[in-house]
Amino acid sequence: MIEIRGLRKSFRDNVVLADVSLSVEAGSVTCLIGPSGSGKTTLLRCVNRLETIDAGILLVDGQLVGAERRRGRLVEARPGAIARSRTQTGMVFQRFNLFPHRTALENVMEGPVHVLRRPRGEVQAEAERLLERVGLAHKTDAYPQELSGGQQQRIAIARALAMQPKLLLFDEPTSALDPELVGEVLAVMKDLAAEGMTMLVVTHELGFAREAADQVVFMDGGVVVESGTPESVIGDPQQDRTRAFLSRVL
Ligand code: ATP
Repeated sequence: MIEIRGLRKSFRDNVVLADVSLSVEAGSVTCLIGPSGSGKTTLLRCVNRLETIDAGILLVDGQLVGAERRRGRLVEARPGAIARSRTQTGMVFQRFNLFPHRTALENVMEGPVHVLRRPRGEVQAEAERLLERVGLAHKTDAYPQELSGGQQQRIAIARALAMQPKLLLFDEPTSALDPELVGEVLAVMKDLAAEGMTMLVVTHELGFAREAADQVVFMDGGVVVESGTPESVIGDPQQDRTRAFLSRVL
């Protein structure tokens, strides 16, 4: 579903992604872990083309969405491929980014109605089902400020699902939440994983990574230091940098 080869990204002279290669299989869950500033969020934003990339190849669902080096020259992806890939890629942010003046239901309906231009009646029925799926059928008419952070984040997940994405990207979805609200969001994410959603998740929740991830990728200093199953990367890391990081957070 995602194929990244030799990805490089700098902000001025700050090299944030030095040479990243990574594959995410369709229907699998990959957790990106690593210290603050290691480039995890930037990598996620490159996949969704919220950032341009400097070099390398970035394919999402077989479509080139990142620059490709051909005979020494950078060839950009076609804008149509990027736009199509974006509508098929859902993103859930650390801060839920719901529209404050719209109800839960309206937030979930926004994308399909205004971006995909689908009929309201059909979209509403789907949005109600999605709110039920994230355990919030009783909150359809609530406004974001009337909801807890965990509830807002579950609405943000329903909103991403409303676009019927092939791929979901999560950027530290629980790190802005009070500890007692983390579990309800992770439970929704585990359900999605069990249903076969392809997910790339930046997270500090190693328990979630152990339980739900097919692949764990440890990044440090803009490179992938180590990747593999949760049992190997978290349970039996091979690299000193991974061991040092885990000893700080476990
Ligand atoms: P965290 O866990 O703290 O979110 P991270 O691993 O996700 O960290 P990034 O957010 O990708 O790391 O940031 C990596 C580096 O890129 C940091 O040094 C950051 O200052 C820099 N950076 C990120 N976005 C920008 C930007 N838009 N302009 C300039 N520098 C940026």
